[in-house]
Amino acid sequence: MNQPQTGELQALDRAHHLHPFTDFKALGEEGSRIITHAEGIYIYDSEGQRILDGMAGLWCVNLGYGRQELVDAATEQMRQLPYYNNFFKTTHEPAVRLAEKLCQLAPSDINRVFFTGSGSEANDTVLRMVRRYWAIKGRPRKRVVIARENAYHGSTIAGMSLGGMAPMHAQGGPCVPGIEHIRQPYWFGEGRDQSPTAFGQECAAALEAKILELGEDNVAAFIAEPVQGAGGAIIPPDSYWPAIKAVLARHDILLVVDEVICGFGRLGEWFGSQHYALQPDLMPIAKGLSSGYLPIGGVLVGDRVAEALIEEGGEFFHGFTYSGHPTCAAVALRNLELMEREGVIQHVREDVGPYLAKRWSELAEHPIVGEARSLGLIGSLELVADKANGERFDKSLAAGNLCRDLCFQHGLVIRSVGDTMIVSPPLVMTREQIDELVALARQALDDTARHLGITSIN
Ligand code: PMP
Repeated sequence: MNQPQTGELQALDRAHHLHPFTDFKALGEEGSRIITHAEGIYIYDSEGQRILDGMAGLWCVNLGYGRQELVDAATEQMRQLPYYNNFFKTTHEPAVRLAEKLCQLAPSDINRVFFTGSGSEANDTVLRMVRRYWAIKGRPRKRVVIARENAYHGSTIAGMSLGGMAPMHAQGGPCVPGIEHIRQPYWFGEGRDQSPTAFGQECAAALEAKILELGEDNVAAFIAEPVQGAGGAIIPPDSYWPAIKAVLARHDILLVVDEVICGFGRLGEWFGSQHYALQPDLMPIAKGLSSGYLPIGGVLVGDRVAEALIEEGGEFFHGFTYSGHPTCAAVALRNLELMEREGVIQHVREDVGPYLAKRWSELAEHPIVGEARSLGLIGSLELVADKANGERFDKSLAAGNLCRDLCFQHGLVIRSVGDTMIVSPPLVMTREQIDELVALARQALDDTARHLGITSIN
């Protein structure tokens, strides 16, 4: 593709397109990068640059790009029945088959699914469903949902209220009432004066303290991501989830595990809940469900909640035009079948997950890296000015954004959250491609250090 077309598209983009999570003015001045096509784990831009997609799109293209089987599934379904709803006592085969498949893959006491169009809609559904559940059970005062600071649960009003992103709350408030946040298990950011074990236990104790403060009779549920994604690929200390489980065992509240990122193989199991041996009542899902080829999400609903809704609930006044969209469902089903057939989960758990852990941890030796962590195929690097004490770069230097931009120049997409660099690549990566990812990240780190005037880099 030639230069004039890039310029023309950038001009039209600037004139008419408001991008998500974007400083519109700054982007207008800079101009968007135009992605033209993609194959495997690589995306290509209109200037002909090949870029390794270390973020799998937006944590979703788990099977990689260019999968003809998914194109075929969409084409066949669009020919036969492109759309029909599931509202008025109707259904169709793709929604039914996908629901059955999801329930086979989920932990054993999850046997129902409510479909949505996205992860945010899934979490809106969660909020309504947990409150509805307790109302049906004759305990309507149990309405508060406890979530965590720096969590991400979506960008609708309910999603952002459940999330713990302070800048979002500041712009979109007031938040939905009845949502409380506790501290996050972010050891590198908030706990380095203690051992990871002690810190993980302390963060779990915050859940119990919050339940007691609010009164168990007022608490509906606790919601959390197994590994926080958008917050910075934050892998909790090993002590955290067992201690949370112990707290939940002492109190009658529901557990909601947000699987929008961790679901569908990211941690080397079908669901992050299986990695941490959690038994959620509800699991919001999206993204990797269709490898991002078409938008689809949902909530996997455990028997306890489903049976109350079915047996005692009457009509649940909730749903979306695209709940269980047949074309999206057909693609999602084919995606799950391919993941099974190709052994993608084992590939992550036994091969590339451990391999990434080994290669990624080597980056911890870099002069500006304070920590390199990964689990399955999600990982992050903490950029620091001083390795000895973990001191961060001055905020004005925007080291994370600088590093992200330099990664792009080197042909690698990784994302920055403050000065935390994140990777979450397609699950079908090979070891050689992980070597390539790590080599590109190292070059970008060297460049970042040079730009920041770190003298130990030559
Ligand atoms: N939950 C989590 C954990 C997420 O990471 C996201 C999206 N990044 C969402 C919910 C919201 O999903 P969507 O963008 O599809 O609405």
